[in-house]
Amino acid sequence: MAELLQDKDRIFQNLYGLKDWRLDAARDRGAWYGTSAMLEQGKDWLINQVKASGLRGRGGAGFPTGLKWSFMPKEVGKRPHYLVVNADESEPGSCKDRDILRHDPHLLIEGCLVASFAMQAKACYIYLRGEYILERNRLQAAIDEAYAAGLVGKNACGTGYDFDIYMHHGAGAYICGEETALLESLEGKKGQPRLKPPFPAGAGLYGCPTTVNNVESIAVVPTILRRGVDWWTQFGRDNNKGTKVFSISGHVSKPCNIEEALSIPMKTLLEEYAGGVRGGWDNLKCVIPGGSSVPLLPKEICDTVLMDFDALREQQSGLGTAAVIVMDKSTDVIKAIARLSYFYKHESCGQCTPCREGTGWMWRVMERMVAGNAETSEIDMLLDVTKQVEGHTICALGDAAAWPIQGLIRHFRHEIEERIDLYRANKPVFVQAAE
Ligand code: SF4
Repeated sequence: MAELLQDKDRIFQNLYGLKDWRLDAARDRGAWYGTSAMLEQGKDWLINQVKASGLRGRGGAGFPTGLKWSFMPKEVGKRPHYLVVNADESEPGSCKDRDILRHDPHLLIEGCLVASFAMQAKACYIYLRGEYILERNRLQAAIDEAYAAGLVGKNACGTGYDFDIYMHHGAGAYICGEETALLESLEGKKGQPRLKPPFPAGAGLYGCPTTVNNVESIAVVPTILRRGVDWWTQFGRDNNKGTKVFSISGHVSKPCNIEEALSIPMKTLLEEYAGGVRGGWDNLKCVIPGGSSVPLLPKEICDTVLMDFDALREQQSGLGTAAVIVMDKSTDVIKAIARLSYFYKHESCGQCTPCREGTGWMWRVMERMVAGNAETSEIDMLLDVTKQVEGHTICALGDAAAWPIQGLIRHFRHEIEERIDLYRANKPVFVQAAE
């Protein structure tokens, strides 16, 4: 059995909120220790350390964080630099940033200072999901504490660096988690994705150089720098280094958030931390391993697959936000995916035709598939439409709508066909409620 991560190696020591979130307690757990010494090493050192750590973005795409930081202009010109933290956590299944925000907010605030200094950003905006009310209050209280203690603001941490941090509360649209839609929303406009290029590092917030990072990506940076790249890189396989917070939900005995090393086997993750699949491992039907937008994996693959970026991509799925949604054999998987299709149809911003029209079209066909009221040939037609939506839109929501259906057809085509046969034979189609 794979070795489990020890408590001493967990970055988020208060993930479950069992301890105090306030500054003094956070300091006792190690936050804000040696921060000024880190900054004194200089911005190039900071960026190079993050590059050497191999940290990949924790918000879904897995892009190398240090490399992203290095895209910012080396010197500040006429336009100020900005760091924007994406706390719009809206991917169904994902609830990891919420626990960081409400239970360990000082790790995030410290990370904002370090990352902003590395990119010479004088201001950081944290864009928070509209529904996160408690998290907003908690984060703002922690920001106030950091100001009062001189950790941020003028002469942050006594380094002579002036740095401000602002929290912005969104209004609850899924698409505002897409980085350019988030920037539009932050500017007070309708949250619709922008065409890229230009990328935010060239022209982001208010047309200025901007880096957008996920909450977890920023919150882990100070600890990586404190404990060293060698410590961080002992976890996970090559190209998939470090620890990660997994959100486990669905048909397991104990749904939970858990920080573990990347590359842990999925079976170990579910059995050791989530109490196993309801009814035992053999009762597993499939798992969505990285939030609702990535293709599901059937049990045969889940038996051995590792939870990291590359292993899941090799299985034509993805780590995404590491939101693991477990479905046991009682699940009507066609209905479950149809429900996701409805979600993406509802959340499409409507700018591009393949997404605006395609998501609705796919959902309507999926609804007929749930009932079995379709032609067998329509399965391939549906698959073909998903391919025409995928990669042909301004942002990744089109892909997010297409991939769950592709995963369903790839692994459970036989169930769709059986249902169509039952419907044609006028036999009752038993449709299970998708929990
Ligand atoms: Fe909007 Fe969908 Fe186009 Fe994204 S893909 S910009 S959500 S219409």
